[in-house]
Amino acid sequence: MPRQPLLHEDRLFPADPGVRDIARSLYRHVKDLPIVSPHGHTDPRWYAEDINFSNPSELFLIPDHYVFRMLYSQGVALEDLGVPRVDGQAVETDPRKIWRLFAGHYHLFRGTPSRIWLESVLAGLFGIDERISVDNADEIYNQIEVSLSKPEFSVRSLYKKYNIEVISTTDSPLDDLAYHQAIQQDRWEGRVVPCFRPDPVVNPDYQGFSDNVLRLGELTGTDSSTWRGYLKALALRREFFVTLGATATDHGHPTAATRDLGEAVCERLFDKALKGILSAGEAEDFRGQMLTEMVRMSLDDGLVTQLHPGSFRNHNDFVYRRFGLDKGADIPTATEYVQALRPLLQRFGNETRATVILFTLDETTLGRELAPLVGHYPLLKLGPAWWFFDSPVGMRNYRRAVTETAGFYNTVGFNDDTRAFLTIPARHDMARRIDCSFWPNWLLSTNWKRRKLMNWHKT
Ligand SMILES: [Zn+2]
Repeated sequence: MPRQPLLHEDRLFPADPGVRDIARSLYRHVKDLPIVSPHGHTDPRWYAEDINFSNPSELFLIPDHYVFRMLYSQGVALEDLGVPRVDGQAVETDPRKIWRLFAGHYHLFRGTPSRIWLESVLAGLFGIDERISVDNADEIYNQIEVSLSKPEFSVRSLYKKYNIEVISTTDSPLDDLAYHQAIQQDRWEGRVVPCFRPDPVVNPDYQGFSDNVLRLGELTGTDSSTWRGYLKALALRREFFVTLGATATDHGHPTAATRDLGEAVCERLFDKALKGILSAGEAEDFRGQMLTEMVRMSLDDGLVTQLHPGSFRNHNDFVYRRFGLDKGADIPTATEYVQALRPLLQRFGNETRATVILFTLDETTLGRELAPLVGHYPLLKLGPAWWFFDSPVGMRNYRRAVTETAGFYNTVGFNDDTRAFLTIPARHDMARRIDCSFWPNWLLSTNWKRRKLMNWHKT
């Protein structure tokens, strides 16, 4: 009996054959559209230097906390997966050995989007049509490694092959954006734009906050030690990002809190923030005020504001102390929006010249808080299913929870939010398949122009 291919052409489509037909025909219209990637974490150096990735482990495993957290949760030491330690102590350096360890635990990814992304890359890009196992680990490793060194696997070649129209990186205001400048000066047709992520200079709890603020002043030729000078420095830095193509800012706050405080209060908070003596409540006030300031600035420079709240970062202190940031120990918290956003919305909620895109890691807020908010305030839009919910079920839940209140036009398109460059098309493809599956189900269930729809897909 012939073996089933690794990827079924109808994957993620509805089980009902009639509905599946409609999903398929809708998908035909969107599957080859260019990829627009407005939020993500790829490294601008890759595009500037047109690098080739080195080996399968460094590509798929070591930088991907989705992958190694799963193995860690089942008792595999991060050292054995080659994750570097902050104290420089030895970790596994043989990428082949790391790959074998991964292959031996591959069953753990059953039912997860990580497996769909990975298998989409293996089959779609490397032509590998076998599931990873201990038996074929070396063979698959070799096949990927040989391909990776070829010119057609350089980042710019893949950018073209993937039909990417534009991709945004995520950058600190203290970054000189040298790689972005190099990309712009190059005669390459790809479009890679920076995104202004000011957490290091607007979150008083961020490591080195006061030094970061002073550095911001140096970079902009401004006295950033006063409240007004600090705001001016931020506005100037945003402008610099705009000159290199930025279209958005991004904010990773612990909550969605916003504030609209008087200037004297802001000055006092800012002075205390620089001295590092804010209470936890005052730090929250400061971050909340800075969100409102960022939206105010967006009226001048046109940058869209993205808010990604509600992640308890570095929840596992042991892992954080040993391996540092972004090691899969970020856990979602319950997040409240209605009260939290009110100060911002009182001031700017009715603005039609600015946009704030809200994200959530708390699915319970989708129907109750976020859809009604974005379905009312002109300032607001709702971002796609994010992080732990960037998955088939997460995306379906999202559409079900918000569409009847927010409609489609108060949500924004998909973003991949990834640093795993090779998986970008697989992620967009998943979102397109889920959306194409949602439409017919939803329209048929409301019986809306049922006949027309059933016939339309045949045209
Ligand atoms: Zn992100």
